[in-house]
Amino acid sequence: MHRQLILVQKVYTRVGLVLQTPPQKPFLKPISLFSKSLIPSSFRIFTTNLRSPLMDPQETSLRQALAGKQAAIDAQANAVRELKASKAAEKAAIDAAVEALKGLKMEKSSIEEELQSIVKSNGGDSKETFRQNLINTLERKLFYVPSFKIYGGVAGLYDYGPPGCAVKQNVLTYWRQHFVMQENMLEVDCPCVTPEVVLKASGHVEKFTDLMVKDEKTGACYRADHLLKDFCKEKLEKDLSLSAEKAAEFKQVLALLDDFSSEELGAKIKEYGITAPDTKNPLSDPYPFNLMFQTSIGPSGLSSGFMRPETAQGIFVNFKDLYYYNGNKLPFAAAQIGQAFRNEISPRQGLLRVREFTLAEIEHFVDPQDKSHRKFREVADLEFFMFPRELQVSGESAKKMVIGDAGTVNNETLGYFIGRVYLFLTSLGIDKERLRFRQHLANEMAHYAADCWDAEIECSYGWIECVGIADRSAYDLRAHTDKSGVSLVAHEKYAEPKEVEKVVITPVKKELGLAFKGNQKMVVEALEAMDEKEAMDMKANLESKGEVEFNVCTLGKSVTLNDKMVTIKKEKKKEHQRVFTPSVIEPSFGIGRIIYCLYEHSFYTRPSKAGDEQQNVFRFPPLVAPIKCTVFPLVQNQQYEEVAEQIAKSLAGAGISHKIDTTGTSIGKRYARTDELGVPFAITVDSTSSVTIRERDNKQQIRVNVDEVASVIKEVTDGQSTWADVQWRYPAHSSISADE
Ligand code: AMP
Repeated sequence: MHRQLILVQKVYTRVGLVLQTPPQKPFLKPISLFSKSLIPSSFRIFTTNLRSPLMDPQETSLRQALAGKQAAIDAQANAVRELKASKAAEKAAIDAAVEALKGLKMEKSSIEEELQSIVKSNGGDSKETFRQNLINTLERKLFYVPSFKIYGGVAGLYDYGPPGCAVKQNVLTYWRQHFVMQENMLEVDCPCVTPEVVLKASGHVEKFTDLMVKDEKTGACYRADHLLKDFCKEKLEKDLSLSAEKAAEFKQVLALLDDFSSEELGAKIKEYGITAPDTKNPLSDPYPFNLMFQTSIGPSGLSSGFMRPETAQGIFVNFKDLYYYNGNKLPFAAAQIGQAFRNEISPRQGLLRVREFTLAEIEHFVDPQDKSHRKFREVADLEFFMFPRELQVSGESAKKMVIGDAGTVNNETLGYFIGRVYLFLTSLGIDKERLRFRQHLANEMAHYAADCWDAEIECSYGWIECVGIADRSAYDLRAHTDKSGVSLVAHEKYAEPKEVEKVVITPVKKELGLAFKGNQKMVVEALEAMDEKEAMDMKANLESKGEVEFNVCTLGKSVTLNDKMVTIKKEKKKEHQRVFTPSVIEPSFGIGRIIYCLYEHSFYTRPSKAGDEQQNVFRFPPLVAPIKCTVFPLVQNQQYEEVAEQIAKSLAGAGISHKIDTTGTSIGKRYARTDELGVPFAITVDSTSSVTIRERDNKQQIRVNVDEVASVIKEVTDGQSTWADVQWRYPAHSSISADE
């Protein structure tokens, strides 16, 4: 049982509601209790006895060799100095010593060269060049562009152009199919503008913050953890004189960055002497900055609201109706796709950190006493990279694990969603070798969460969190129950009634009405919403003092109650049902991040046949390709163009997105143009009876009759057949264009 969950249950044990430790299913070996204090101290204070398991062994030995060579150079330089200072030394001896020193320096620079190339291959310049080429292509082809570009743009805001919109739509359609339809989820669509009270209840008004530091002279703002991250990365990539120990320390800081408290971040920034990047001015201590965009609702300006930072709250506040809609049965899941807004401190990395983005979120409600999943067996054999927190703190790498055997995942439902997310991402075209599921470190997790795993995808910027999969326990529903006074609970009918001892709170409405008039209802609701401990404390106070101060959240103030206004007693009662607050498992997908990583994993270059230039290609699977098929008349003539129009009509009839290119450019150039958009198939009309279909990546072609071509394209884009299947059925066409 996780410590955080116990905490939540203590806080929220309500009247007559006996929350118990959820007995977990057999596959779930207990999660290890990793609190900050249990992390080995060597990793927390970064002493020099660190092992360096995060370091490439070749890099470690080169850094050690470099340090050894530098020591030898220092010693030899001393020897030269002493010889030169000594009157007795002969010129020949001095010359020999200087030669030896030169030799050592040459050896050192050859080690440096080797080290530089290893550091580069572990993430240096080649990644930059790749990314620059990718981004140029994406912007040139209008996958996305900076918003409001003609006015200079705004950091963290982007527009999707035509192919970008099509890719996004395909990803969302598949998301609906893979999650909403296959799991019979209840989809909702709630407003982005959210009243303050909702986000106060959820804790966002108080706690939705990042740690910020300010340039003490100019006031420029930076995200504290980003500065520390950049500093460590730059040291590792550029400082060749870095000792192996220091390099290992920086790698450990990077591994544990998300776990740092404000004080720890501030201490590291001071220790490393990190200053403001633009001015080199000193920085303030880190302090929290709330990421929500505030607004007001209505013309008076009196009703405060925020642009929602996540879509989840819209689902929680609708729980009661959705539960009823679902026949008062658990488990069930609700889903929502929509825009989320976060006023990021320093947006960067293109689509990865933006101020407005599309989230697709699922809230799967379960009985906290039974988090098994009836379809868990369907994913149990999947094997992929997992990165439990034990591996992170010991500095090891993610390991391939079978999800059914991965004892560290807290429960089956969480495990099931991890498996489903893996299938979703890899079907889109995410490379499974660059995908891992990383468990949150103890401090990184919200205090109420039972367990969290992020689907992280590796791209040229490093490992990026693209999907968060969290067991949020019953936190959200309880918070909204408390704040709204509406009970967001589920019921389990007992086969036989059970006798239980319960605290019964009976507000005396007549007395309360006399004392509080129009506010009576809110006082009554607040009294009825007290948990067992609060109620028994009030009873003791009323008995000893005759009156108590009672805070009524919905009134925003305390009222004085006397012993005539409420009776509180314990009674034995027969219960016919168990009433409980469901737990929620939440997979939350950042659609823009997934799409950007997909672009990186799909993009490659190949030489043109003429060898004079590199051609860019996106190897999108048909599922996500923005256009599924292009149609080219081989030469500009009316007959071929008519056939092309006829094919286009049948493609449209089959619901296949396509494009006709009747320009006079060479066929090779037209292929190159469509490869750059990731179009998987190209139809070339070179006769009036049959045409060729060319596959983008292997460039092979088959010949198909005009009246069959649309159905063949449909088969391969719908995934009913593979390209290999249709290649087997139709004759090959061998003339690949001369300038391909
Ligand atoms: P969170 O609620 O912070 O776990 O975020 C849920 C998901 O939203 C993350 O897994 C990311 O994929 C995505 N996300 C969070 N912040 C941003 C951002 N500033 N820009 C783009 N995507 C984001």
